[in-house]
Amino acid sequence: MSHQPELVISNATVVNSDGRQEAHIVVSDGRIAALVDATQPVPTAARTIDAAGMLVVPGGVDGHCHVAQVTGRFRTLDDYRTTSTAALWGGTTTIIDFGIPRDAQETPLAAVLHKKELATQSRCDVALHGAVVTWDETVPWQLEQLAAEGVRSVKMYTTNRGTTMADGDTILKVMRELVRLDGLAYIHAEHDPIIADCTEQHAQDGRIGIEHLHRTRPEPGRGDLREGDPGHGRIHGGARLLRPPVHPGCRGPRVPGTGTRP
Ligand SMILES: [Zn+2]
Repeated sequence: MSHQPELVISNATVVNSDGRQEAHIVVSDGRIAALVDATQPVPTAARTIDAAGMLVVPGGVDGHCHVAQVTGRFRTLDDYRTTSTAALWGGTTTIIDFGIPRDAQETPLAAVLHKKELATQSRCDVALHGAVVTWDETVPWQLEQLAAEGVRSVKMYTTNRGTTMADGDTILKVMRELVRLDGLAYIHAEHDPIIADCTEQHAQDGRIGIEHLHRTRPEPGRGDLREGDPGHGRIHGGARLLRPPVHPGCRGPRVPGTGTRP
């Protein structure tokens, strides 16, 4: 009986992207080996879980989370143990974190390898996006190494001046390398001068807690770049005519203006 499956989840309502069916789920060597129609007898296994009346769905994938991220003087509170435990309680079985250089000395490759090491503490599956802050002649080689590690999506920030912000030349050069490597550029696209100015105005008025963060992101400061958009490949600046130095959404009235998108 050494080949009997380690686990059978019996009489489940299995929901997949192509539909739902009543089935017994047979697990061998940690993988789903078969779905047996529920009209058939329950296969013998080392362990059986009765899922009658329950839905069984594939684990969720959270494609964007920051675990133990260092930005300047700050670090997010959660570590891999707490993050992955919370994820699993919510049905998310894979998270994709970011390997972002913690300071000017840390290379993109080192940042990803550091996160890989931290991720050994995770209780759920982990994948990583890379990040580039500053271009230098080693970046193409580093991106190749990242690709060899399975990391082909690379994030760059247009804000967070002084910590994670990449300049336009860096973004363009990394994008060219990613074309060569069949990778994907991931742009955190916000207009840095607006964000910085808005943050400064709030700070002057004593609003510095995390609860005020969204107020430092007024609509004209935000942009996006997404795969599949008709304008994919461009950064949508969302620029509008403003009445300086007061920005809509920060304080004061919104001033209607003309769009300046290309
Ligand atoms: Zn993020």
